[in-house]
Amino acid sequence: MIRLIRPQISFDDVESQFREILGSGILTRGKYVDAFCEDVRKCTGADFAYPATSATTALWLCLKLLEIGPGDEVVVSDFSFPATANVVEDLGAMPIFADVLPDSYNMDPEALLSVITSKTRAVIFVDAFGNPTGIHEIASICREKGLTLIEDAACAMGSSENGNKCGSVADLGCFSFHPRKLITTGEGGAITTNNADWNQWFLTKLNHGAGEALGCGFEFIDYGYNFRMSELQAAMGSVQLRLMDSIVTERNLIRDQYKDQLEAHGFQAQMFGDGVQSNVQSLVFRVPDGVNRDKLVFALREKGVESTLGTYCLSGTRYYRQKYDSVQPNSELLQITTISLPCYREVPVDQVCEAIITSLPDVSE
Ligand SMILES: *Cc1c(COP(=O)(O)O)cnc(C)c1O
Repeated sequence: MIRLIRPQISFDDVESQFREILGSGILTRGKYVDAFCEDVRKCTGADFAYPATSATTALWLCLKLLEIGPGDEVVVSDFSFPATANVVEDLGAMPIFADVLPDSYNMDPEALLSVITSKTRAVIFVDAFGNPTGIHEIASICREKGLTLIEDAACAMGSSENGNKCGSVADLGCFSFHPRKLITTGEGGAITTNNADWNQWFLTKLNHGAGEALGCGFEFIDYGYNFRMSELQAAMGSVQLRLMDSIVTERNLIRDQYKDQLEAHGFQAQMFGDGVQSNVQSLVFRVPDGVNRDKLVFALREKGVESTLGTYCLSGTRYYRQKYDSVQPNSELLQITTISLPCYREVPVDQVCEAIITSLPDVSE
């Protein structure tokens, strides 16, 4: 089977670090987590970075920071993984689904402007599959309207628009290190911000609310949480983050090879705007008109090639459709017409493209 994604990391890459960590007995809150935060800062250009257990907990904590709850509205990009809206729903606020642009798959600025109300508190922009196209435009709308911008950069480590890295443009950035992402720690996440006022809040809240030392213990100045990452995870993350530039270059070359072969058959690659460097976290195309995407995925599976849908129309999931009944058309179309293709070092692009092209007659209606 040609897999969709493979971890960039092998045991050899972390063996010496794992031996050191396990030998030292310091499995959490040690120098590897500190170094990991420094590596996240370097890869994002953000002033502050905090480890988290996932992008989901990172997003949730950002909403807690902003004290978002019942009566508040948060605008979310509609074409994403459900976690983007679930965190809003969980805190009792209302997710407002903004449609996306059909070529970049990112939040449509017009759609955002049309849904802002007096209850809107924040906007969650998603870098779809790592593509930050349009984030500066969304950021300037948020500034003008006095809204906090959270970047769901779960997929976007290493991407940039106009030379500004994901994680440094919005007020808050949230990253994932799940195995489906480019950089993985098994499970894991990170939060970034440039806001010094929020720094102390994160440091306290992410440490159970502990403040200064009190005798041989701590004074608990607030209540808080534990969304920590272990030293082992941090060591895995750092090894990969330090290779970020070459990983991004390599994935863009793979994308070009696929485009060369597939565009002639009517496939349309996800569009990146001028000034965008995307990490190509997932390599996504829209299938040609008349092609049944599900049938294509099944036909490829028969030929030993793993592929899957792009991602989800959040407003169209059963839960959100039944509760809010506002399905966004571009996002709905993208959910049924996009396909993610295998992308990693040494993927046999020719073999995958041949499997796709020879399947087309059987999967067209
Ligand atoms: C993967 C993903 C998430 C969830 O990340 P976890 O680390 O698994 O919580 C959230 N948003 C987007 C856009 C994602 O792709």
